[in-house]
Amino acid sequence: MSSSPATGTILSGQVALVTGGSRGIGAAISKALAEQGAKVAVNFASNAEKAKEVVDAIRSGDREAEAYGFDVSDEAQVAEGIKKITQELGAPSILVNNAGIADDGLLVRTSADAWQKTIDVNLSSCFYCSKAVAKGMMKARAGRIINMSSVIGETGNGGQAAYAASKAGIFGLTKSLAKELGSRGITVNAVTPGYIDTEMTAYFNDEQRAAMLGQIPLGRLGAVEDIAQTVVFLSSPGASYITGQVLGVNGGMYM
Ligand code: NAP
Repeated sequence: MSSSPATGTILSGQVALVTGGSRGIGAAISKALAEQGAKVAVNFASNAEKAKEVVDAIRSGDREAEAYGFDVSDEAQVAEGIKKITQELGAPSILVNNAGIADDGLLVRTSADAWQKTIDVNLSSCFYCSKAVAKGMMKARAGRIINMSSVIGETGNGGQAAYAASKAGIFGLTKSLAKELGSRGITVNAVTPGYIDTEMTAYFNDEQRAAMLGQIPLGRLGAVEDIAQTVVFLSSPGASYITGQVLGVNGGMYM
């Protein structure tokens, strides 16, 4: 008897790759896609133990998942990782470009290396992974690419120039790929979470947290499930006519 019954079937027969699937939002997305029947490749950078926990949780619900460690900011590692996933689980029909880092700092204190790393992990990764799955999706004449941006890409934020630039860059990539791949039945969309309760926002102190809540009409931080269910929707047949869009999931903090 499974410990967490997973009865959804809207994604049966699909293979999903979730980058940064080992923690936070990515872990919730991995579980939610698996609950709807997708086989999930849970990518991680270094935290193999956390990725294994996600895989074990999915398997305990009688769904399929496997962990794959590779650095999404390295094109060769991405190509190798996706080749392995294709051999073991099948060609990804859903790609969720979720992996991301925030290395915040004021402009004058941000090194060129920190800038470049943020761009590489948050933005170039979306290009590398999309490129690596596109051939299989084009052959299948179907596919879903969902890029995790951020409300900060829409608003900008002092002390987050590199992060905001990397997340805003995702909009141009998303819209261009949506135009380029639409005729092959592939949709490409971006999701912009507001402030979500994860390790990435855990460092806020009480004062910062109160200031943050003051900007959110719904009066709470987002939960990882809020983002995961949006990704399930964008992966589902019901979203087949949505492409090139930037979907805010932010409690109304940016409209
Ligand atoms: P998180 O808890 O810090 O988790 C980050 C994930 O990305 C981990 O699974 C990590 O793997 C993986 N990762 C980092 N660098 C990687 C690399 N080079 N290659 C492969 N995987 C890598 O982050 P989160 O808060 O869930 O955020 C997920 C996404 O949502 C990010 O793109 C973030 O910018 C975006 N977002 C978050 C918020 C928020 O409030 N939390 C708001 C807006 C947007 P390891 O476990 O191996 O380190």
